[in-house]
Amino acid sequence: EAKKIRNTITFFREDFKQAYKYRAQMEQELKKAILQNELYMMYQPQIRRDGGTLGVEALVRWENQLLGFVPPDKFIAVAETCGLMLPIGEFIIDQTFADITEIQNQTGLPVTVSINISVRQFQHNEFFDRLIELIEKHSFIHVELVLEVTENLFIDDVIGIQNLMKKIREKGIRISLDDFGTGYSSLSLLNQLPIDELKIDKSFVDDITTNSNTLAMVEGIIAIARRLNITTVVEGVETDEQRKILADLECDVFQGYYFSKPLKLEDLKAFLVSNTHL
Ligand code: C2E
Ligand code: CA
Ligand code: CA
Ligand code: CA
Repeated sequence: EAKKIRNTITFFREDFKQAYKYRAQMEQELKKAILQNELYMMYQPQIRRDGGTLGVEALVRWENQLLGFVPPDKFIAVAETCGLMLPIGEFIIDQTFADITEIQNQTGLPVTVSINISVRQFQHNEFFDRLIELIEKHSFIHVELVLEVTENLFIDDVIGIQNLMKKIREKGIRISLDDFGTGYSSLSLLNQLPIDELKIDKSFVDDITTNSNTLAMVEGIIAIARRLNITTVVEGVETDEQRKILADLECDVFQGYYFSKPLKLEDLKAFLVSNTHL
């Protein structure tokens, strides 16, 4: 029995060492990722209830020689803890603006572009000024910009966050609360913060067709949002059945594999040209 436990402990220690090594390696590689052109953006279409394309959510990708494809939630978490979030966050904004400008020039279509902003990035004291600089650098037109932030952001400094959000909205930029319903304080945040949009988390969509409690909750969220003049976006729509239920609940905007997976820039152009009903 004692030996078994010892083996288990050794096993965990090895496991831990491996994980630690992998993490250290990821940090090392991530430092060079921008210079080595390993980061790029993909864009997932967002569809209005009437079927027209509203715009896209920008999603970062990292393909590293040594580590292969690393999922964004993994490396963003690492970037946040090792001080790399600011440069990576800037790359994301800069690249997205460049791509969207190109799309605009080629298609002339108005698009809304949503960019995910990590907690550290949003709370960094240079974030706002850098964002404005990047907007001026690209000087695009007919683009509505949305920043997607998550709930875990707001726990400590509500007043500071309120002020920052006000400054952002004064610039005509909209704020979206991502993964809505998964945090601790979703509803109270709607009361405290100037939010334009909320994204109903995929976990609700997953069982909306089979769980009547989930259906009731989503219905409630959409009703509250409407009363507060907040746009509702639903993410992770994979089937027509889900789409139909959410359309009946009068959700405003839809996103998910049912409509399109995230696309590379070239494929997005084709999608926009063939799917836009203005
Ligand atoms: P998120 O912001 O909630 O993004 C939605 C994720 O769901 C994306 O995964 C998207 O590809 C995926 N998805 C969309 N529709 C469907 C669907 O119908 N079915 C399924 N199974 N998945 C769907 P992705 O791109 O792997 O991103 C994962 C997370 O990584 C994001 O969650 C976000 O938290 C983070 N992330 C991605 N790109 C960025 C970025 O540019 N900046 C920051 N700060 N975080 C990012
Ligand atoms: Ca998001
Ligand atoms: Ca989300
Ligand atoms: Ca998520």
